[in-house]
Amino acid sequence: MLAALLAASIGAFTVRIRFLAALLRAGAPVSRTGDAGARARNEGTIVLGQRKLLQRPGPGLLHAFIFWGFLVLGPTILIAMIGAVDRHDTLPWLGSQGWYALLVDIFAALVLVGVLGAVWIRKVRRPERFRGSHLGEADLILALIAIIATSLLLWHATRIALGLNEYPASWMPISNALSGLFSRGQATRVLERVFVWVHIATILGFLAYLPRSKHLHIATAAFNVWYGRTRSRGRLEPLRFDDPDVPEEEIRFGAGTAADLTWKQMLDTFTCTECGRCQDACPAFATGKVLSPKLVIMGLRDQVLADGGAIVRARTAGGSAAGGRAGGGSAAGGTATGGSAGGSGAIEGAAAPEPAALVPAAVPEESVWDCVTCGACVQACPVSIEHVDHIVDLRRHLVMVESSFPSEAEPMLRDIERASNPWGKAQSERADWAAELGVRVLEPGDDPPEYLYWVGCAASFDERARTAAESTAKLLRRAGIDFAILGPREACTGDPARRMGNEYVFQALAEQNVETLNEAGVTKIIASCPHCFNSLSAEYPDFGGNYEVVHHSQLLARLVAEGRLAPRRSSETLTVTYHDSCYLARHNDVIAEPRALVSSVGEAVEMQRSGRGTFCCGAGGAHMWMEERGSQINDNRVAEAIATGADTLAVACPFCTVMLDDGVQGAGSSMRVADVATLLAESLDLPAPPAG
Ligand code: SF4
Ligand code: SF4
Repeated sequence: MLAALLAASIGAFTVRIRFLAALLRAGAPVSRTGDAGARARNEGTIVLGQRKLLQRPGPGLLHAFIFWGFLVLGPTILIAMIGAVDRHDTLPWLGSQGWYALLVDIFAALVLVGVLGAVWIRKVRRPERFRGSHLGEADLILALIAIIATSLLLWHATRIALGLNEYPASWMPISNALSGLFSRGQATRVLERVFVWVHIATILGFLAYLPRSKHLHIATAAFNVWYGRTRSRGRLEPLRFDDPDVPEEEIRFGAGTAADLTWKQMLDTFTCTECGRCQDACPAFATGKVLSPKLVIMGLRDQVLADGGAIVRARTAGGSAAGGRAGGGSAAGGTATGGSAGGSGAIEGAAAPEPAALVPAAVPEESVWDCVTCGACVQACPVSIEHVDHIVDLRRHLVMVESSFPSEAEPMLRDIERASNPWGKAQSERADWAAELGVRVLEPGDDPPEYLYWVGCAASFDERARTAAESTAKLLRRAGIDFAILGPREACTGDPARRMGNEYVFQALAEQNVETLNEAGVTKIIASCPHCFNSLSAEYPDFGGNYEVVHHSQLLARLVAEGRLAPRRSSETLTVTYHDSCYLARHNDVIAEPRALVSSVGEAVEMQRSGRGTFCCGAGGAHMWMEERGSQINDNRVAEAIATGADTLAVACPFCTVMLDDGVQGAGSSMRVADVATLLAESLDLPAPPAG
């Protein structure tokens, strides 16, 4: 009977896992090798240590009880199977260890505590983050876990009652206490058999059900964490349009159908636990937008599984992942180069239905454009799902293949292409702000300065953002830093085009800028825009641009620490709350330095959402140029800043400056929004920058 149950359960598990593995093999390639040390650390902290789940101590601890419990209880499956066949036999050595019996007793109870706590959270507290999750399935899984733990304890209790325990009953205090419920008679002998078989049957049923349920994450989470990003969280995977190593049929233009997803993206979808932590952290969701990162991943998973058979058949017929995508994916326009499944002849004899377009079949188009690419979802996800890559890939397909995107963003994309900046201003005006200050503009053939100051489009052309550039230049000069700017030769880094989904435009600008910087012999760059900082430091290396990039707040903090800048602190007159930019704090871990600057000039007060847990200003992901429907993200953030009672809202990003200043004005508050460089320059009594 045990052999039959094992065969049925393992057979059902294997059939499903083989299908899922074939699907992953059919996914588009993406490299996630190297960094074994960092990956091992992630396994240790995120998987074994449950680090991300424990960011919320209550629910995190309950989940950890269940997870750690199952690690400890793992060998009891074998012990129970042996005991089911022969109640007088057990697993050699471990089965007769008293200390292990004690651990089993404690952790079986902790698993039950975890299950009861989870039920209480779901049924009594009913947090918003579960909205849209498969709650019935979760209930079933919790019930199965409870049966497994309870039947184990009761089996041990009946064994103690019957005198079958291999070690003193005192090693199992909970089972020992329960044994008082049972006599030494025949009824208990029957119950001992019932409990062990219920235990085994539930485990084997769970094994068969697991890969067909949302609890598939039990099998995939460790892999997904292992293959997660280890560096450069703000970097997007580049599309390889003209890489001679990438065959033409493998070129991706984002994700149009499930067949276009990379294997990591497919693995992401299999791994979602539907916990809703990403949704809870999402500024778009928090302000009532259609977007829920959880529902994006769940929708993609449903589509991957719905189209999975066709994708696998197409790959098998094509003999390669490329064949699979050309046949299955491009049918709906997933690649711009392939034909339809029938037309390409890639699926001989396989009448594969055309895979559905991911937008709108799996993800509503509004969701795709609601995202500000802030990364809060990625940061919150306990199993290292990379939502931003999914959303940008959907955008890439919409923009580059379908030419479908919000009309208000069109001028921005056009201006970047035409004028090399999203403001559409003449490049000859780029250094106007610096003329009065006498900042050196690097001409072709000039000796390179120690630092190239990358000003960015916002500070070059927007009046409010420009103040920070002027302050930075004055501070650098005061500290004796050798620096220069590129002036008209600096083009937009391409960040807004890339986050919008126009990878063509981004790559053209990246290549142009890298050529300019390399020809100028630049080795060190100061960037005051976190978006430029992220592109230059994390994304330009993919295009041959390797520089030592610092954010202006980092360099200024160092200069203050070294005594080369000596601000006067005025805590009586200046109370400052600092807003972390997503692309600085969350994507690039620049958290301490801007705070050091704030503390050097005034009294710092923190907002509740700060550091890597910051709340977006609403400008990322090219939203600076898109209309926001309904409640505004910047208003939400400004309300939090005003609640601190601070008189100044410090920022370290030109986009945050504009968005939060708009929010402050909208709220009718007297709070001042100022860049940390401006506050520092003022404390040094450097000539005040022009008003703006
Ligand atoms: S990146 Fe930010 S806005 Fe986009 S889905 Fe994630 S949390 Fe929401
Ligand atoms: S994507 Fe991650 S955080 Fe979001 S619901 Fe799934 S597992 Fe939870």
